[in-house]
Amino acid sequence: MKHEYLIGDENMDQKNWNYNADVIIVGSGAAGYSAAITARSNGLEVLMIEKASLIGGTTGRSGGGFWIPNNRLQEEEGIVDSKDDAVRYMARLSFPQLYNPDDAHLGLPDREFELLSTYYDMGSKAIDFMEEQGALNIVPQFNWIGTLQVDYMDHLFENKDIRSYFLSPPEPL
Ligand SMILES: Cc1cc2nc3c(=O)[nH]c(=O)nc-3n(C[C@H](O)[C@H](O)[C@H](O)COP(=O)(O)OP(=O)(O)OC[C@H]3O[C@@H](n4cnc5c(N)ncnc54)[C@H](O)[C@@H]3O)c2cc1C
Repeated sequence: MKHEYLIGDENMDQKNWNYNADVIIVGSGAAGYSAAITARSNGLEVLMIEKASLIGGTTGRSGGGFWIPNNRLQEEEGIVDSKDDAVRYMARLSFPQLYNPDDAHLGLPDREFELLSTYYDMGSKAIDFMEEQGALNIVPQFNWIGTLQVDYMDHLFENKDIRSYFLSPPEPL
């Protein structure tokens, strides 16, 4: 993969530069890089534009932990993370004012319910894809007492299993 960085050039706006790309991505955080890596994996030329003098955005400052239901590491540990439990947990936390455990869509509008449902179905696949691309490695997140990290709301009935995992620093591409 070709990388060309033009960073920290204060005279950039006075330069007459000209690039061609199939996809232009504005911002170099997790969202931008996810889009860029996906586009490159499909053979497209990518131009990523970043306004800051450093790449990485807020993502570069973050703790790097991310929550993926029904992920590969859980599967390897024999943890069954059912869709019903995971979606209920997400619905209760994300939409507490709407949450209705007895409703077929848990009290959520169709789009919101589908979003959570899709997150369960596709989140793990997306992480697997990023690993296959060599963009990241996933390892379990441990907390400060040395046990596997659980969710912030681990006491809720809907939270049946450990789901949190840390993103380790990616290998340079
Ligand atoms: C201290 C801290 C810890 C966190 N820890 C976690 C965590 O452990 N887990 C978690 O899931 N989330 C965490 N978060 C939240 C998480 O970091 C953000 O939700 C996530 O990084 C957002 O990613 P993004 O790609 O959408 O945006 P960003 O990473 O902010 O990327 C946006 C990029 O776009 C650039 N940009 C904006 N406008 C333009 C423009 N006009 N032209 C060119 N470039 C532009 C910005 O400079 C920036 O680089 C944390 C946040 C903070 C502050």
